[in-house]
Amino acid sequence: MAIKKEPEILLKASKINKSFGNFIANKDIDISIAKGEIHALLGENGAGKSTLVKIFYGVLKPDTGTIEINNSEVYISSPNSARKNGIGMVFQHFSLFPALTVAENILIALDKKIKFKDLISEISKLSKEWELFVDPLKRVSELSVGEQQRVEIIRCLMQNPKLLIMDEPTSVLTPQEISNLFKILKRLASSGCSILYISHKLEEIIELADQVTILKSGESIATIDAKKTNTKFLAETMVGKEITDLKKTNSISVTKDTALELNGLNKDKETDFGISLKNINLKVNYGEILGVAGIAGNGQVELMEILSGETLCEKDDQILLENKPVGFKSITERRQLGIETIPEERTLHATVPNLTIAENTFLTYFFKYPKANDIISNLLNNPHNSKIESEKIIKDNDVRCPETNPLANQLSGGNLQKFILGRSLANNPKVAIFSQPTWGVDIGAATSIRQKLLNLSNSGKAVILISQDLEEIFELSDKICVMNDGTLSKILPVAQITAEDVGLLMGGKLDASNQVETTE
Ligand code: ADP
Ligand code: MG
Repeated sequence: MAIKKEPEILLKASKINKSFGNFIANKDIDISIAKGEIHALLGENGAGKSTLVKIFYGVLKPDTGTIEINNSEVYISSPNSARKNGIGMVFQHFSLFPALTVAENILIALDKKIKFKDLISEISKLSKEWELFVDPLKRVSELSVGEQQRVEIIRCLMQNPKLLIMDEPTSVLTPQEISNLFKILKRLASSGCSILYISHKLEEIIELADQVTILKSGESIATIDAKKTNTKFLAETMVGKEITDLKKTNSISVTKDTALELNGLNKDKETDFGISLKNINLKVNYGEILGVAGIAGNGQVELMEILSGETLCEKDDQILLENKPVGFKSITERRQLGIETIPEERTLHATVPNLTIAENTFLTYFFKYPKANDIISNLLNNPHNSKIESEKIIKDNDVRCPETNPLANQLSGGNLQKFILGRSLANNPKVAIFSQPTWGVDIGAATSIRQKLLNLSNSGKAVILISQDLEEIFELSDKICVMNDGTLSKILPVAQITAEDVGLLMGGKLDASNQVETTE
């Protein structure tokens, strides 16, 4: 009888605890990673994933707990000592110096002495071997995000790691870049390197991982064979409750009546870090959801500012609402006309953190009350109506509050987002424009937010959804376009565009003008 061979364990962590003040970020976590295994770490925002891997990489020290590598206990006191133990890490937010070249960036993180010439040839060799193409002499500031990630991976590979840790590596990549990355990770794993892969994307984990450990509120609640599970089970385990499927009604509500239109909109960037908007044309009809895909940082923020009225247009008719120019209208005027914009930044931009929910309601409501022209005096003297309004928003939108009328900053991200959305919907908009509505929101809240968008379009409203989450774009949109470097591709019905095309457009690889004209 063949004896089943137990996998050899590379890293074993036991009873890891880590608190920040009174807050417990990691509680009694046990995890074992086998040699050559791709082990995914899954969990909602704030579950403690980054904290745990920072402990493995020596960036944070655990309060208690032990780490063994190859069956002997190690003390990882710094990233340097992690690297000596064969652990490499690619961070969630890259740690490269933009003004230095690729080779210089790799050199400063290298623990060995090497001649610059040899370094260049070693980088080129690794880059070829692993199909991680980058020019070692190029400045990092000239690289795309995908290329920067390749530099980080090469930097890790230079040290011959036994364990490579990647913290949410795909959130900034196009689908093509993601599939390349997965190929590399699978090859690395089959060459014997273990991979600890953090993500909150369920599909990715099913595709990539051998094992998946789920963290919830700082605790490890399950380790599952990734090949024997499915996304629904993972989602429900992660959230701890049943996830309801979205109810779609197959776009029956889509009309031919144009709600909002942008015509030849140009806007020069205001700072070096901004993006200029170039000849943006866009049209959304009543009853439809127009998805604007694209990696964040390609002009989405600038587009939102123009749409909301935070920045005014150069010409009044560059934005039309039901054929009437609104390009010179202010935020409040647009709101009164029925345009609601829900920005991605929930604190400071959409709410004032130190004001109560009622006060925050008042800030977008005051125009409803005839005598409420002076915001400040009304805020101080007559917050009664907005208190009633805010209580209704909280009730209608299942916003979980720690107390009645809390400060905005007392709500969790998902609940604050539900409040902001509900507040806009209570104004009964004709056109609702959302930027990254489920960014950083847990899966339960995300599902309820997505359902609200669908309900809006089903009830005949026009919806623009700006999102870098491609799954979300495809799940909700009737029509899709892609934003890249301040330009917008042609708008196509969802049935006429594939995720691959969208990916190419996101990376600026497909000429937008090659696209077919929208058929209506
Ligand atoms: P995840 O990566 O799963 O989203 P993190 O490990 O980053 O979660 O964070 C877990 C929790 O610990 C969060 O609530 C976060 O606010 C808190 N936390 C993380 N780092 C710190 C820190 N340096 N100081 C205080 N709190 C922190
Ligand atoms: Mg994290």
